[in-house]
Amino acid sequence: MSARWDAVVVGAGPAGSATALQLARAGARVLLLDRARFPRDKPCSEYLSPESTRVLERLGPGVLGAVAAASPARLTGMKVVAPSGAAVVGRFETFSYALPRTRFDTILRAAAEAAGAEVREGVKVEELLYDRGAVAGVVARDTYRARIVVGADGLRSVVARRLGPVHAIGPKRVAFTAHVAGVRDVHDLGEMHVGRPGYVGLGPIGDGVTTVALVVPFAAARRGARFFEELNRFPGIAGRFNARRIVRHVLATGPFSRWSRRAVAAGGGALLVGDAADFFDPFTGQGIYSALRGAELAAAAILATLATGASLQLYARARRREFGAKWLLERVIGIAVGWPALIERVVGRMIRRPELAHLLVRATGNCVPAGAALTPRVLAGLVL
Ligand SMILES: Cc1cc2nc3c(=O)[nH]c(=O)nc-3n(C[C@H](O)[C@H](O)[C@H](O)COP(=O)(O)OP(=O)(O)OC[C@H]3O[C@@H](n4cnc5c(N)ncnc54)[C@H](O)[C@@H]3O)c2cc1C
Repeated sequence: MSARWDAVVVGAGPAGSATALQLARAGARVLLLDRARFPRDKPCSEYLSPESTRVLERLGPGVLGAVAAASPARLTGMKVVAPSGAAVVGRFETFSYALPRTRFDTILRAAAEAAGAEVREGVKVEELLYDRGAVAGVVARDTYRARIVVGADGLRSVVARRLGPVHAIGPKRVAFTAHVAGVRDVHDLGEMHVGRPGYVGLGPIGDGVTTVALVVPFAAARRGARFFEELNRFPGIAGRFNARRIVRHVLATGPFSRWSRRAVAAGGGALLVGDAADFFDPFTGQGIYSALRGAELAAAAILATLATGASLQLYARARRREFGAKWLLERVIGIAVGWPALIERVVGRMIRRPELAHLLVRATGNCVPAGAALTPRVLAGLVL
């Protein structure tokens, strides 16, 4: 049976909407499905790394204009605070936007629709359809046949699980995120406070609201703790909050650290993008950039396949080239934050050598290649 759609995209988060937008703009017949109804929330620190701005620009002036008009905060750098309270600031060369995911994701979803993608909400995909070994569509309440299926359905992607093994790799952490008004001393910086155990990320997201993410080992979360009491054990945070000024309830997520063995279906016909393909740890704040940049790579590969029958494996290779060093940097940092004494030492080194703080913040902000922060000279400077 011939497919009604060139591509069915499962998930209308940043990865799915950005992929659908680019495919539809190039003339493909695209169906974008999401189980949620928008605006929908997502546990996140809601900071778009500076290089995300460049991708949003490429998605079209309407997209970046809508983000800029949604009263986002503008961050000029990141403060890293060690368990003792010692702190260092690394600055971006430019700035990054930060805004609630309810607004950001709704802008992207609307842009995909405006570009010509058909969007259906409240549709939960359960299974994949196959035709002679290749993925040929998805099954929800109805069946949707497509030449290509894009799994952009996030951390617990059903498309990824149907395509093959999803590895759960350590460290096993969970996160609790909230929006709080009137947090003291929040200006134009994102803040990462490392504790014993866990860490807290916080930063402004516009309109006087701060997003607060508490990330702790899974085992610590199971012992049970109250959100604001936990925040008070971080010296750089204690006393800055008024629990009564919470403006959005606490959302929980995790454990994360997932890695799909196949970003492209073995028999063809499907690929994964964004968290559905991989997500390690939120500390470096690169998830949205990876989703958007991954969407560019996915759209290019899909358009080549639709036009010439080229293999989707080109996408797997493009991802390795684009993200290989970033994956390594994310892992090095994600593992290091589980060692408070090591973070104490690294922050001490960066206080003495601020250029290392700027380099690390720019590498995790995707402003300079991640590999620039992974040279023996830089690593030695950070720990020796
Ligand atoms: C605590 C925390 C803090 C973070 N902070 C940051 C940060 O500050 N900056 C940053 O860049 N990144 C951050 N991240 C990472 C970022 O949130 C993700 O990387 C990003 O949301 C990935 O986008 P996505 O489109 O792949 O997935 P998602 O945004 O999760 O979107 C997936 C979509 O798929 C839909 N879906 C799921 N299953 C189905 C199904 N079966 N059928 C149909 N639809 C389905 C969902 O409803 C959802 O809309 C953070 C993550 C966490 C956990």
